[in-house]
Amino acid sequence: MADPQIEKLLIVQDRDVAVQKIEQELARIPQERSALEANITAETANIEAAKQALKEKEVERNELDTEVKAKESAIARFRTQQLEVKKNDEYRALTTQIEQAENEILELEEREIELMLEIDTTRETFEKEKATIEARIAEQRVQISQLGDRETNLKASVKEAQAAEQIARKDTSEQYLAHYDRVKKLCKRPPYVARIEAHKCGGCHLRVSNEVSSGALVAGEPHFCDQCARIVYA
Ligand SMILES: [Zn+2]
Repeated sequence: MADPQIEKLLIVQDRDVAVQKIEQELARIPQERSALEANITAETANIEAAKQALKEKEVERNELDTEVKAKESAIARFRTQQLEVKKNDEYRALTTQIEQAENEILELEEREIELMLEIDTTRETFEKEKATIEARIAEQRVQISQLGDRETNLKASVKEAQAAEQIARKDTSEQYLAHYDRVKKLCKRPPYVARIEAHKCGGCHLRVSNEVSSGALVAGEPHFCDQCARIVYA
């Protein structure tokens, strides 16, 4: 490399790229944080939904209980009425009603037993899953807090890296820096200063003209790739 300004510009570029890397990492943190927070919200909602489902089964069980009690008091009422009726067919009608209510109670009780088993199984599964999910949520909270630490560290690093870049820039010719900044806007992605190897630009990997190729050997002024406009050197 014949041009000392290119050498200086390469240091600027190194430090600039270092700043960019830290900035990109910093820029990803809010996304990472919201992803973790969204997970926690979803998992919490899952726990709530499971809790709600369990509660609904309990409510259903209580309703069955109430229904059984209502039928039991109806039976008691029918029996009292039976003591009072005079006619045989009225008495028989009440007996039929009592039998019917008793059958209904049996059915309700069967359903209640099924439901109690269901509740037990559901509760057991729920408690197990809840513990797993809560452990996961705790882990994600730890990650969020680590993310905060990383953010703080990166913010400090980016300041240091920016300061280092400024030092390198102070040491470099304004003309070269102006071209560097222009190329940076144009190319978006580093390198902005690229070596020509085997007649190819190290930035766009396309073949440069002979004129650029030989010009790149001359120090004292910047040279540019005729394909991508990056600053090139040989
Ligand atoms: Zn190029």
